[in-house]
Amino acid sequence: GARGAKLYSAEDPLTILTSDTLKGTLRNSSTAWLVQFYSSWCGHCIQYSPTWKALAGDVKDWEQAIRIGVLDCAHEKNFDICKEFGIHFYPTFRYFKAHSASFDIGKTYRADRDLQTVRQLMVNFLQNHTRDDWPVRCPPLEPSRSADILSLMGLKMGHYTAVIIEDEESYVGREVMLDLMAYEGVIVKRALNTDKSFLQKLGITSVPAAYLIRPNGTHTLMDVQKSLRFFFSSFLKLLPGVHKKQSPAALGSAVDTRGQEEMEVWKEFEKSKVYMADMESGLHYLFRVELASHETLEGEELKTFKDFVTVVAKLFPGRQSVVKLLETLLEWLVSLPLERIPYDAILDLVNNKMRISGMFLSEQLQWVGCQGSRPELRGYPCSLWTLFHTLTVQAALRPDALANTGLEEDPLAVLQTMRRYIGTFFGCRECGQHFEAMAKESLQQVKSLDEAVLWLWRKHNQVNSRLAGALSEDPRFPKAQWPTPDLCPTCHEEQEGLHVWNEEKVLAFLKQHYSTGNISPKYTS
Ligand code: FAD
Repeated sequence: GARGAKLYSAEDPLTILTSDTLKGTLRNSSTAWLVQFYSSWCGHCIQYSPTWKALAGDVKDWEQAIRIGVLDCAHEKNFDICKEFGIHFYPTFRYFKAHSASFDIGKTYRADRDLQTVRQLMVNFLQNHTRDDWPVRCPPLEPSRSADILSLMGLKMGHYTAVIIEDEESYVGREVMLDLMAYEGVIVKRALNTDKSFLQKLGITSVPAAYLIRPNGTHTLMDVQKSLRFFFSSFLKLLPGVHKKQSPAALGSAVDTRGQEEMEVWKEFEKSKVYMADMESGLHYLFRVELASHETLEGEELKTFKDFVTVVAKLFPGRQSVVKLLETLLEWLVSLPLERIPYDAILDLVNNKMRISGMFLSEQLQWVGCQGSRPELRGYPCSLWTLFHTLTVQAALRPDALANTGLEEDPLAVLQTMRRYIGTFFGCRECGQHFEAMAKESLQQVKSLDEAVLWLWRKHNQVNSRLAGALSEDPRFPKAQWPTPDLCPTCHEEQEGLHVWNEEKVLAFLKQHYSTGNISPKYTS
């Protein structure tokens, strides 16, 4: 079913883009664009959304020069467009120039958590335009010559001219110019502090400073409490006769203003069970969306992919149709002498275009034990944890399952494969970095298949504890140390008043919980 993007809404000061609007919006746009490709299941995207909204609000007045957009790659409708744009990780930030006639997937840049840094990057982006593709309504951002400024003094221009005097590295002048670009009654210029006699004439002793030439030609230093962008801009916006221009009607025509999408019907489930529908949906997403954003697999990526398919084909206690598909995929990969595989070939097989009977992986996202109280919560990452816990338990229960795969000797086979999958392909890059740090620290201490089960349990609890109270936490499923006492009373003990785990009982519980007999086929179609 459809999962709607709820991290951003039509009330936010930014543009929600979709597969229907993205290209049309970017092609030959009169403004530059900064677009965040996010995923509504990615915890870091959820955490980052208030910052992104704050940024969009902060530069709202720049929108005739550069605009802010978002696109949710976790929305089924957007799978293809994110693939076409080569979005591998979330969030990915792309910058698109104004007036680009041809199709352009934009330039990626590393976003910063710090608003001011992103805002300064936006200024740099604008200045990357040439005279030919300069966004039409964007004022020129170059500094004026001091002689040109001086020649304005005493002239009755009929509007204010504000001049920000600053050093070369300062962004204040350009930010104030953009802040006031949508206002009439005032023109903002900037000048550098290199000409000492100029500074002396204006009576400027420190920069940044602002000088004001009134409509009647008289002039004076601008008197603000602090030499900060916000103080300069709001001073100018409040001058008598200065007000905001009507925004052109054309703006906003591409905005997707559709309201709420239909909510999914809640599916009843039991916390004490594992649901096949979650793991199949996870595999669907993993094969058809996450991996499919890669055009080809080669080298380390291909090796990681092969090992992942090996581990899943041999250990996943799935339905016949799915296991058969995974086994066929594995045979095909092993038989290929290629060092580089176009991902489309893999997709053809996964989508069963070769029509091999009885092989099938459902093409829908059907979250059950992983459903969230809002569409952006839980889902895919929850299904990955579920899958990997199931795989470590299956490896411990069936130690011979990996025979003749090259992975049979290694009690760490599943965990190392998970570690490499998460680090290489998992869309949440910061999750991957955290997981890698945990693996580096303690994975080498794992010496048996049972210890592997416990290691993943322990590390998952460590993640739960770190994420408790985060914005990505589903209020209906608070992050708790798991299994909770209602699920496994004997797992919990007290020693001298302190809670301790009975790890023997935990291991037995995990082996029962993630065993074939506890996996419910409910809601699999
Ligand atoms: P999840 O934590 O996804 O758990 C799924 C299910 O597993 C639970 O419902 C429960 O039945 C069971 N379970 C819970 N704890 C355990 C345990 N200790 N042992 C066995 N079974 C358990 N999000 C971030 O915001 N930041 C991160 O750094 C981050 N790192 C991640 C790293 C990995 C490898 C993965 C797969 C995900 C990561 N995530 C991260 C996502 C996050 O951990 C959750 O998956 C997501 O917030 C959804 O949470 P959830 O409530 O569905 O439960």
